[in-house]
Amino acid sequence: MSRIAYVNGRYLPHKNASVHIEDRGYQFADGIYEVCEIHNSQIIDMGPHLDRLDRSLRELRINAPMQRAALIRILKEVITLNRVTNGLVYIQITRGVAPRDHYFPKSTTPSSLVVTAKHVNRKKWLEKGEQGIKVITTPENRWERVDIKSVSLLPNVLAKQKAKEAGANEAWFVDKDGFVTEGGSTNAWIVLNDGRLVTRPAEAGILRGITRAGVMKLAAKKAITVEERPFTVDEAKHAREAFCSSASGLVMPVTHIDDTIIGAGAPGELTQELRKTFHEASELTKL
Ligand code: PLP
Repeated sequence: MSRIAYVNGRYLPHKNASVHIEDRGYQFADGIYEVCEIHNSQIIDMGPHLDRLDRSLRELRINAPMQRAALIRILKEVITLNRVTNGLVYIQITRGVAPRDHYFPKSTTPSSLVVTAKHVNRKKWLEKGEQGIKVITTPENRWERVDIKSVSLLPNVLAKQKAKEAGANEAWFVDKDGFVTEGGSTNAWIVLNDGRLVTRPAEAGILRGITRAGVMKLAAKKAITVEERPFTVDEAKHAREAFCSSASGLVMPVTHIDDTIIGAGAPGELTQELRKTFHEASELTKL
């Protein structure tokens, strides 16, 4: 079955779907995006993802391409056309197409909207979760507005490639004071010896992850304490467990940080429990 993408009002074969060369997303990475998980034909935490999308647009003064209800119809249509029951839906909005110039184009320039959906191989995803992942640490070198889910991801791309070349899957950025901020495409967590969870506050230095919020909701249901405070690389290396959170990986156990084995070198018990029960605390939207 061929994949279908939505591009600026049209549903097109994915392989031919394209935007103009003067799209500001292409020229300046002048755009934002969101990724939602699709689980058993339901969109996970769609409301919070669309709230964050609206916030990213406001912060960058990009016009919303349409009302939320119309956007939701497109998301559902793309997921359905691609027959995705377990996977991801991707939304990208840019400041639109205009002759290349750093200044904003006329305020009447329509923003560009692209929506795609893809299957995720559930077997592989489960295997990865059973194995856990390796993380490297790398100096934080991103701009201060990492709270905006912008498509300007060059430092993240370079950090994740560095991780890959080191035989790892994710890179945790470390600020100038030695504290972990977050991963290249995930939020970072540790589990202390007494079972408390620690993750950096979302006020500065990280993207306010929707999955991060989901883990917090789940932890509250299970009476697990979450401490929102910065933690150092050293503290992480001595933690009982560690994991990453994101819409695509949910709760992903970390078994190594640089050359240090975390806990027993296998996914931790609490991490696995959070991973297995994650959807108990999420908002589900039927297609
Ligand atoms: N941090 C960064 C830099 C990300 O790119 C992402 C996801 O793409 C996250 C955190 C996790 O956010 P969410 O849980 O909303 O997917």
